[in-house]
Amino acid sequence: MTVPGPEQPVGRIRFMDQQRVNLDGFAVEDPELGLVALRSPHDPEPGLVIRDGRVAEMDGVAEQDFDSLDAYIARHGLDLAVAVEVMALPDTELARRAVSPDVPRAEIIRLCAGATPAKLARVLALLRPAELGMAMTKLRGRRTPSNQAHVTNRLDDPLLLAADSATAAAFGFREIETTVPVLADAPSNAVACLIGTAVGSQGVLIQCSVEEALELELGMRGLTSYAETVSLYGTEPVFTDGDDTPWSKAFLTSAYASRGMKMRVSSGAGAEVLMAGAEGKSMLYLEARCIALARAIGAQGVQNGGIDGASVAGSVPGGLRELMAENVMVMMRNLESCSGNDALMSESDMRRTSRTLPIVLAGSDFVFSGFGSIQRYDNMFGPSNFNAEDIDDFLAMQRDWGVDGGLRTVAPGEIAELRRHAAQACRAVYQHLGLADFTDDHLERAVDAAGSKDLGGTDTLAVLGAAHSIREGGLTVVDIVAALDETGYEAEAEAIMEMTRARLSGDYLQTAAIFDEELRVLSLVTDPNDYAGPGTGYEPSPARQAEIDDIRQARGVEDLRAEQASAAEPLLAPAGPAVPGQDPRDVVIGVSPAVGRDVWRSLSGLTVPEVLGELLAGLEEEGCAGRVVRFSDTVDLGRIGLAAARMAGSGIGIGLQGKGTALIHRRDLAPLANLELYSVAPAVTRELYRLLGANAARHAKGATPDPARNPYTDEAIEARYHTTVIALMALERAWVKPGEPAEQLTMEGLR
Ligand code: CA
Repeated sequence: MTVPGPEQPVGRIRFMDQQRVNLDGFAVEDPELGLVALRSPHDPEPGLVIRDGRVAEMDGVAEQDFDSLDAYIARHGLDLAVAVEVMALPDTELARRAVSPDVPRAEIIRLCAGATPAKLARVLALLRPAELGMAMTKLRGRRTPSNQAHVTNRLDDPLLLAADSATAAAFGFREIETTVPVLADAPSNAVACLIGTAVGSQGVLIQCSVEEALELELGMRGLTSYAETVSLYGTEPVFTDGDDTPWSKAFLTSAYASRGMKMRVSSGAGAEVLMAGAEGKSMLYLEARCIALARAIGAQGVQNGGIDGASVAGSVPGGLRELMAENVMVMMRNLESCSGNDALMSESDMRRTSRTLPIVLAGSDFVFSGFGSIQRYDNMFGPSNFNAEDIDDFLAMQRDWGVDGGLRTVAPGEIAELRRHAAQACRAVYQHLGLADFTDDHLERAVDAAGSKDLGGTDTLAVLGAAHSIREGGLTVVDIVAALDETGYEAEAEAIMEMTRARLSGDYLQTAAIFDEELRVLSLVTDPNDYAGPGTGYEPSPARQAEIDDIRQARGVEDLRAEQASAAEPLLAPAGPAVPGQDPRDVVIGVSPAVGRDVWRSLSGLTVPEVLGELLAGLEEEGCAGRVVRFSDTVDLGRIGLAAARMAGSGIGIGLQGKGTALIHRRDLAPLANLELYSVAPAVTRELYRLLGANAARHAKGATPDPARNPYTDEAIEARYHTTVIALMALERAWVKPGEPAEQLTMEGLR
């Protein structure tokens, strides 16, 4: 119940209203429309009646009332040998077994083979989020988690597709899928991605997601290697709206698989709601029917967990829990899970992270069913939940949690080289086969482009022509290999040939199969998940862990030492021992041990001489004279400031650490007391340092100035600077010598 507010909400609410999360739509839960995540009052009671070895009733529906989904599942989707046993288990007991590391994965798979859709929906609705994570960790098919990328662009530019495919492959994606804004471009996109991935990494599977007949044809020509476009729906009307039945989908699935394409189906919450065909059922129950059907029609996996409908699930209570439950249910049916996250489900960075993180932590066969490896605007599937904008965030998340999300850092120079090589190889093939010509200028733009907006245009008619020639000319993977070989790209030719041979052996059609970079098949069969609690299951190898940990932004003390050295100046030389001053206008600026030695630039970006120049100017403006004294016996700013004050004729000192933290001290105060303090060094400006100098002088003259304040800031100051602070303090600490007398520093050049 919401209390109605006044006409104009208070400032706090107006402020909250401006936050991005309030751009999202949130729905009132409404089972009649199917706007309900885990349980609807209209969901059936789980139940199974078997008569003479035949399903006579399933989930409250008698055989004569079965719709086509029920009929197909009942005939082909249930292991009746175990059905009685599993249907008799209390829901909480099956839920407990699914979560508990003590119950082997194989036992859950055995049991769930006989469970009806309503039974699995009921069981999964019981799992709390952390329990879903435990279940996913144990139940996914492949031991080694992996990741899938979208590679598309709005112009279908082949050179950009090749460069972006190479980039995605180098980042570690083991499946790459492209699609088209213009259907007829599809053959060109497939060829460009084929060439690009071969440059980026060996063994990456490719999809060109288009109308089924064309997609299958591209696969049969060896240009692509997997498919996941066959969609399933949870109610019959939505199914038949698309002129389909479970039988037609089964036929299509077999068509792909029997022609050597790795094949999974697509489903996921929200699709039925969007088509007003949910029949009052919960999203999880409808998805349970899709997954049972996927198993029954013989697909090796399912792409689900909110695909196009992710934000529909996200709009209702418990929606994200439902999305994750869908993925776990796929795993319970012993299928490969390609786990959603491929649709931008919120305008809020926190919400979209909240949606994806649990799956990254638990680990899925594919933690994204399409990470947008290109920019949002170029994603022709629609923006993914994570896109090129988020790759560095994702790499940091992997490292933060020490988990394998399938990606790795690639050195910037290597990315540049791969992109160039891929674009050049693609251009050479297009030219050699008479498909299209691209200028040097266009190639350079494609190599450098962060997205298609940077291309400055593409001859889209030429792309269309190339696609037409590929299709009408009947080009196959062998033609592409020959063209690469004849244009000097022997290594890429050989890589694609080896991959094609490996595909022909058929092992990659096993459930949850990917190739590793040595073309070994990792699958449910060859790399089965053996998680059984702490200390078991997948752990990254030391080499893989090093890839995860080694992000390009990491800095060590030596990096910082070099950065600081680049700002060094022939200033601040030692000028003899410092002596106590007598002049009442004498103010001492005490600096930390590494100033004038290893530390030259403060966190604000100002050099230490610039900071000192401002402090001295401020002192001078108020009629005082400053001098710079280095204290080498401590790094503690309070003690430096106090020692400076005790040495000053005025009894007032300024303490300055090389990193820029500064304070005013007086000789009669305790070390931790001070008169003014700039604690937020990165935010201190020249003007503020000058003000600190002036205020120190006012104190010296016995006045009581208005203390300077730290400026406003909403930066994550500590996240930005703490690593640097640690390294700076290490440099300072290295110069500390207990008992070392303070020394005067030269001041020429500071003003
Ligand atoms: Ca996908």
